Amino acid sequence: MASSGKDGFWLYDLKVETVLDGRAPVCRHIEGESFRVEGEALVFEAGQRVSMYALAALLPLLPAKQRETSAHDWMTTDAEIACPDPHCGGRFRVTRQGRRWFGHAETTGLPDARETPYWQKEGGQ
Ligand SMILES: [Zn+2]
Repeated sequence: MASSGKDGFWLYDLKVETVLDGRAPVCRHIEGESFRVEGEALVFEAGQRVSMYALAALLPLLPAKQRETSAHDWMTTDAEIACPDPHCGGRFRVTRQGRRWFGHAETTGLPDARETPYWQKEGGQ
């Protein structure tokens, strides 16, 4: 999505993929299952699942991973997040993919800056 020329910001789309690399999972972690993050939305293809316990560990990190970070920031270099169960081998690889542009007025809740939300505009999701 290209910039509309208004004030706004870019967010990376993310892919979050289950990886085991030979480790034994305790929870239901199926290697290769994945979901995408597009703006505020978690997008699951048919049949893809994620443990809610693992999701609880992932969620606080995803907004930071969506944003541009310094090349030396661990948020840039470290791609895998562990399942919170200390006995579980589940990991989740977060990779940045394309970027989307969001207009400030389409995303803010501030009443004097608010316009039509991005997801209510034509082509918005
Ligand atoms: Zn687990």
